Amino acid sequence: MLLKMLLGVLCCVGAFATENIAEQLSPPQLLLVSFDGFRADYLRRFPMPNLKLLYSQGILVEQLTNVFITKTFPNHYSLVTGLYAESHGILASNMYDPVSHEHFHINNDSNPMWWNEARPLWISALDSGYKTAAMMWPGSDVTIGNRTATHFLPYNPQVTFKQRVGNVTKWMLGDKKEKGVMFAALYWEEPDRSGHIFGPDNDTAMSQALKEVDDNIGLLISELKTTGLWDRVNILITSDHGMTQCSAQRLIQLDNCLHPDNYTLVDLSPVTAIIPLKDPEAVFKLLDKCHEHMKAYKKPDIPDRLHYRNNDRVQPIILIADEGWTIVLRGDELPRLGDHGYDNSLPSMHPFMAASGPSFRQGYRISSLQSVDIYPLMCKLLSLPPQPNNGTMTRARCLLAAESCWDVPLVIGLVVGVLLMLTAITVLFRYLSSRRPPGSRPFQRLQVDDDDDDDPMLE
Ligand SMILES: [Zn+2]
Repeated sequence: MLLKMLLGVLCCVGAFATENIAEQLSPPQLLLVSFDGFRADYLRRFPMPNLKLLYSQGILVEQLTNVFITKTFPNHYSLVTGLYAESHGILASNMYDPVSHEHFHINNDSNPMWWNEARPLWISALDSGYKTAAMMWPGSDVTIGNRTATHFLPYNPQVTFKQRVGNVTKWMLGDKKEKGVMFAALYWEEPDRSGHIFGPDNDTAMSQALKEVDDNIGLLISELKTTGLWDRVNILITSDHGMTQCSAQRLIQLDNCLHPDNYTLVDLSPVTAIIPLKDPEAVFKLLDKCHEHMKAYKKPDIPDRLHYRNNDRVQPIILIADEGWTIVLRGDELPRLGDHGYDNSLPSMHPFMAASGPSFRQGYRISSLQSVDIYPLMCKLLSLPPQPNNGTMTRARCLLAAESCWDVPLVIGLVVGVLLMLTAITVLFRYLSSRRPPGSRPFQRLQVDDDDDDDPMLE
């Protein structure tokens, strides 16, 4: 009996110790936050004291090259899958699937069929035994691969940022019944909303919107500190796309080029997706010369760099408006003073990324990164095997404290410096040699004499 009790106690101690070791070995929890439509240069244009404090203790990526099309749903899904839109299947705000004949709209997005071409991090992390959470992130309320995050709330604009943060920190802390989540994704709809209404060039309105965003970041930091999470979690703040100014003087009237009877319209602006109903070649020719500020592509000719071709949901013809131009139907007025969705090579479409926490370097910044690189970075932070993705750790690795990383400009500077110094020493040496009086010998040559008898030491 005594032996049984002793064994019982030892087992308990053993299990407790194993759990403790596992906890010590497990990586820090990760919180991913997106402030929708946060254009990279807002950071330079507006004072953001809380955000600046966060990345002064961590890292800043000044510009992220996001994925085409630069819309909310495609880019939010890319952030959590590391895939281009053609690979994850969420290609636009409005889609048509020619196989299932279903239609997708951002307010009617819960059919898993649209999302099942990829596995977001809040799903794949479940396979490693982690709990996860997704707060109003696009796709978080959809059953993907028959699963959802451990905790999620569907999008509801009535829920304040404070309430969202309150839930996320509660999920990260866990309770007696359930462990805290290892990964949480949190979404907030500003400054995108203000950018659309006022346009990004409206300094007064955007200054107010960005102040509110920064106040929310302050609130988030404060909540993390109050709950004791601040020093032990990695926090990554980013966005899906930027914003550019539109104008009623920059409208492209689609119906002026082609009567609506000739096509089915799937999505409108700034990237129009069209299914021709009559002779596709004739339809394309009319669209191709429609407007000097709009490019038309047949699906096979969409440039490789856009990674926007290899999916059934890319329609036979797409039209891409130049920056700041809006494609409208006849009679329509300018719908928004600010918009996004344009070519992802435009700086105005780029967001930023800032991060802080035990795994990140401190006070480090790089100029750019691909947004698809964030997914493998998050997998590394969580010690998870990444799903197949379009990202790389080549540059993202340098953001991590544990990684030794050669700074290429610094290395080039050092090599050039050493070469210059050696050249200077050689020139100086030659100069000094040339100034010796004629007949003088720079060195006393040592004479080696094999005749031991002449060696005074042996005498
Ligand atoms: Zn967005």
